[in-house]
Amino acid sequence: MTSAELLARLIPDLDAHRGGDLKVTSPTDSAELASLKMDSAADLEVKIVAAVQAFHLWREVPAPRRGELVRLLGEELRAHKEDLARLVTLECGKILEEGRGEVQEMIDICDFAVGLSRQLYGLTIASERPNHVMQENWLPLGPVGIISAFNFPVAVWSWNAALALVCGDPCLWKPSEKTPLTALACQALFDRAVARFGSDAPAGLSQVVIGDAKIGEQMVDDHRLPLISATGSTRMGRAVGPRVAARFGRSLLELGGNNAIIVTPSADLGIALPSILFGSVGTAGQRCTSTRRVIAHRSIIEGLFDQLASNVTALAESGRIGDPLDPKTLIGPLIDEAAFQTMQTSLEAVRPHAVRVVGGGRVLAESGGWYAAPAMVLLDGQPESVLTETFAPLTYVIPYDTLEEALAIHNSVPQGLSSAIMTTDLREAEFFKRHSDCGIANVNIGTSGAEIGGAFGGEKETGGGRESGSDSWKAYMRRQTSPTYHGHARPALAHGITFEV
Ligand code: NAD
Repeated sequence: MTSAELLARLIPDLDAHRGGDLKVTSPTDSAELASLKMDSAADLEVKIVAAVQAFHLWREVPAPRRGELVRLLGEELRAHKEDLARLVTLECGKILEEGRGEVQEMIDICDFAVGLSRQLYGLTIASERPNHVMQENWLPLGPVGIISAFNFPVAVWSWNAALALVCGDPCLWKPSEKTPLTALACQALFDRAVARFGSDAPAGLSQVVIGDAKIGEQMVDDHRLPLISATGSTRMGRAVGPRVAARFGRSLLELGGNNAIIVTPSADLGIALPSILFGSVGTAGQRCTSTRRVIAHRSIIEGLFDQLASNVTALAESGRIGDPLDPKTLIGPLIDEAAFQTMQTSLEAVRPHAVRVVGGGRVLAESGGWYAAPAMVLLDGQPESVLTETFAPLTYVIPYDTLEEALAIHNSVPQGLSSAIMTTDLREAEFFKRHSDCGIANVNIGTSGAEIGGAFGGEKETGGGRESGSDSWKAYMRRQTSPTYHGHARPALAHGITFEV
């Protein structure tokens, strides 16, 4: 199937979006996929008005009925999983197997949200006053602005949208300007679900906004979007967070990571090695949860580095880097030339401190894409440049002597997303879990990837947001404390206050 055929199958109204200045290219060969019109400020205004109108209707629909729409969306995703996965691969460059995984995440969060639609529980709290009952009610919040990154072009929307929809909130989604086609494909699948659902799904319930940071800023500043869920770099979050706060809005920030795996002398290397490799080079190192640092005990670091170095060299030499649609490929391209140049800048910055550097150069230049041989850098400390996230297959291997020192190195970066320890020692595992400052702390599991059932997100410059499972749904609702008096005499005041008139 050609890319044109795939686009026609997934986005029936694509022609209505064509003819603008936003050139969308595939990172596999830098070929143009489409040129799209971007939304103007006036277009966004129309969409926000539609979202507000949709909110007034959707919040009156019972939550389990709202869940039915998300169930139908999950069915559409199941039916179109392979096509959507191919488009994810074509537009953002991750290998097809990971594209399928990303769509599966969407299906999983839909299932989760359907169950949730019958479990939006509040508390009943014992009142200090006689004949009073005190409830906590969770009510729909309003239209949610979703801003997403290129590397998870569809899953991030679904983590937000599936929950927001069952919570009673319409969604306005600005995808990355590098991946707008997958967003239009998701909107088309949503529209199919709505057509099967019935007329109680209002127009404007889910809309896509095509554009760059400028239109994103307009969303961020608009008080009619009480929640802005923004996924992307810490640089973006630093701009978005204060602007949303300035209008007393709520932000859910999912920002950059600088994730490490600690490898102790007791580690089972049969478990540690594949986990480090997947985390380091999988998705061409372009996950927020990618493994950027391996902090290994000094007694094992040389042997571990040798094995990692020979594995990444073999990957480069055995044709496992290349076209992400090819089933034998394990490492696809970087998103663009700028990503490759940033990787080279980081390599140059760390080189003076490095004991050994393996890989890191450009491969398959004739393809037109920006493919990089994964780089492994052996260090004897953690220089300044390691503190910055480099979104590429670049991994630093750093020694430690005591577990306390390993955690100090681990926690000394500004980001706090995912972390891991490889150990067979229960005490080491528990010490790590209590001292890792990250939102995710894995034991004998690499840093990369997470199940949707847990709350996903990180601390410090990762932004503090939580998405997907557990009680993340509370971000999409407003909490109301509601005491009711059901007695006959004059009700008592709180705190024993008497006020006789
Ligand atoms: P990016 O920050 O360049 O862009 C992300 C989105 O923010 C895009 O849609 C962009 O248009 C928008 N944007 C940028 N500046 C903005 C502004 N001032 N106001 C409003 N919108 C703005 O990120 P990227 O290169 O697309 O993605 C890679 C980054 O995303 C990495 O740092 C990665 O770690 C992070 N990421 C984090 C998570 C997470 O869940 N923590 C998930 C995926 C990616």
